[in-house]
Amino acid sequence: MIDYSRFQSAVGLNWYEIDANLRNLLLHRLEPEDFEWCDPELARIGALVGGPIAERAEITDKNPPRLVKFDRWGEEVDAVVHHPAAVATKRDAWTAGISGPRLRLEAARRGRRYPELVGAGLNYLLAQADIGMLCAVGMTSGVIGLVKRYGPPGVRDEALARLTAEEFDQAWDGAMFMTERSGGSDLGTLATTARAAGDHWLLNGSKWFCSNVDAAAIVTLARPEGAAQGIKGVAPFLVLARRRDGRRNGISIRRLKDKLGTRSVPTAEVDFVDAEAYLLADSGGAAQGGRDGRGINRMMEMVNSSRHGVAVMGLGVMRRAFVESAIFAAQRTAFGRRLWELPMMRETLVGMAVELEATAALVFEAAQSEADSRLLTALAKLRATRRGVETASQALEVHGGNGYIEDWPLARLLRDAQANPVWEGTENIICLDVLRALRSEKVMQSALARLHGVLEAAVPELGGLRAVLARSLEEAVEALGFLAGCERDLAELRARGFANYLADLFEAALLLEEAAWELERSGNARKAVVAALFIKRRLVVPAGRGIASADRTLLDLFEPLVGYGEVTWAQARRAISLT
Ligand SMILES: Cc1cc2nc3c(=O)[nH]c(=O)nc-3n(C[C@H](O)[C@H](O)[C@H](O)COP(=O)(O)OP(=O)(O)OC[C@H]3O[C@@H](n4cnc5c(N)ncnc54)[C@H](O)[C@@H]3O)c2cc1C
Repeated sequence: MIDYSRFQSAVGLNWYEIDANLRNLLLHRLEPEDFEWCDPELARIGALVGGPIAERAEITDKNPPRLVKFDRWGEEVDAVVHHPAAVATKRDAWTAGISGPRLRLEAARRGRRYPELVGAGLNYLLAQADIGMLCAVGMTSGVIGLVKRYGPPGVRDEALARLTAEEFDQAWDGAMFMTERSGGSDLGTLATTARAAGDHWLLNGSKWFCSNVDAAAIVTLARPEGAAQGIKGVAPFLVLARRRDGRRNGISIRRLKDKLGTRSVPTAEVDFVDAEAYLLADSGGAAQGGRDGRGINRMMEMVNSSRHGVAVMGLGVMRRAFVESAIFAAQRTAFGRRLWELPMMRETLVGMAVELEATAALVFEAAQSEADSRLLTALAKLRATRRGVETASQALEVHGGNGYIEDWPLARLLRDAQANPVWEGTENIICLDVLRALRSEKVMQSALARLHGVLEAAVPELGGLRAVLARSLEEAVEALGFLAGCERDLAELRARGFANYLADLFEAALLLEEAAWELERSGNARKAVVAALFIKRRLVVPAGRGIASADRTLLDLFEPLVGYGEVTWAQARRAISLT
C-alpha cells in the first residue's frame, strides 16, 4: 500500500512504480510476454518522466517558445526559439521511445507487434508532466499513419525514414493544421486552396491554430481547385518545412498565440504562400485530383488518433491532480489532524481515485479496440477531458490558497487542462460524433456486444451491481431508439446527455470486469469497492440523496482505496450492498 506521507512532492518519484492501477491495467490487458517486456521499460520511463521531465515542465511553462520573425538582414526566417529545457525533454522523449521508434523497433526485433496499449501508457506518463509537450511530440505518429497509407511514392519513403529515424537529431516531427479563422468545428467553411503544379501542389490560405508550428512535416486540409463546396470538397495534404530544392517552404508564421496554458508547445497563426504540398490520397482519390469527396475521411484517421491522445492528456491531468492531492493531504495539518484524516477530504480523495480509475478503464479500452474505436475514442475524450478540468480544479482547492499560486504545480495543471475539452474537437462536436458513430450498425452491435459480454462474465458476488448495469443498459438502448427516430434538433439537444450516459455504462462495465479479474487473481476486493462506488455515483439515484445512509466506506476503507492496498471481501460487502 502506498503511504503518501513518505513523499514531499510528486516530482522526483517514479510515476510508473507508484501507479498500481496502470500496472494492473497492463497486466490484465497485455499478453504475458508483452507485459514482461514492457514492465521494466515503463519503470525506466516512469523515473525519467517523474524526475527530469517533470522538473523541466515548470521551467518551460515560465519560458515558453518565442518567434524570431526576421534575421538581422531583414529576411523572414520565422524561427521558433525553444528554451533548452524543452529541447532536452523532446530529445529524452524521442530517445526513450515515448515519441521515437525505439520500443517499436525493439518489439519488431522480438518478432512481436508493438502493443498500442504500451504507447498509451507512455503518453499517459508524459501527460502527467506536461500535456503541451505531449501535443508537440505526439502528432508525429498520426502523420506517419497518413503518409504511410496515402503519401505519393516519391516523397513517402524519405518522409517516413525521417519521421521514424532512431536518432533525434535526424528525426522529423509532425503537426496538423486544420482550423481556420472561420472555425474549427465546421471545417466545410475552410478556404485554403490547392493548385496542381506538376507532381505537387501549391497551397494558399491561412490557418488559425497551428500547434507544434515548427514541425518538419505538416498535415493540413485544403480545397483542390474545382472541388465541391462544403466538407466534401476538402482534402488532406502533406507540407514539408523545406521544399524539395532545400529552400524554406511557403509557410509564414504571423504570430505565436498568447495562451492560457500548454505553453510548452508553440501554437501559431500561419499563412501558406504557394506552399509546396503533396496530396494524401489512395489511388482513386489521386486519380480524381483529391476531388473524390473522401478527403475528410482520410483526415479523420489522423484526427481519431490525436483525439485519443487528448483523452490520454485528460487522464494524465487527473492522475497528477490526484497524486499531488494525496501527498499534500498526507503532509498538511489543520485542527491538529492531517488533512486526509478529515471526512470531507477523504470523500474528495476517494472520489478522485474512483473517477480516475473509471476514466483510465475507458481510455485504455479505447486504445485497444479497433472496430468501434471511433465511438470509444469519442467517449474517452469526452470523459477524460471534462474530468481532467474538474479534478485539476478540485486538486487546486485541496491545496487551499497555495494551489492558486504559480509556485505550486496546480495552477499550471488547471490552465493546461482547459485546452483538452477544446482541441481536437470541442465537447459538443464530440457528442455529435457519438451519435453519428452509433448510426453505423457495426459500431453499435460491437459496443452492445462488449457491454453484454461483461454482464455475462461478472462474478456472482457482484450480481447486485451487475443488475443495476443491466437495467441502465436496457434504458440506454431505449433512449437510443428514441434518438434515432426523433427530430434532428431534439436529438442534438440530448446528445451530451446520451454520450455521458454511454460513457458511464462503459466505465461501470469495465470496472466490473477489472474487479472480477482482481478478485480472481489475488482475492483483493478493492476494485470491487471502486466499481460499487462508481455505480452508486452514476447509475443509482439514492433516496434523500443518500444523506441518511450509514455507509462508512469512504471513511473506513480510505487508506486501501487511495493507496491501492488490500480490501477483504468481508470489508467490501457493505460497500457493494445497494441497500
Ligand atoms: C491551445 C490550442 C491549440 C490548438 N491547436 C490546433 C492545431 O494544432 N491544429 C488545428 O487544426 N487546430 C488547433 N486548435 C483549434 C481547435 O481544434 C479549435 O479551437 C476547436 O476545434 C474549435 O474550433 P473553434 O475554436 O473555431 O470554435 P468554433 O468552431 O467556432 O466553436 C465555438 C463553440 O461553438 C460550439 N459549436 C460548434 N458547432 C456546434 C454544433 N453543431 N452544435 C453545438 N455546438 C457547436 C463549439 O462546441 C464551441 O463551444 C487549437 C486550439 C487550442 C485552444
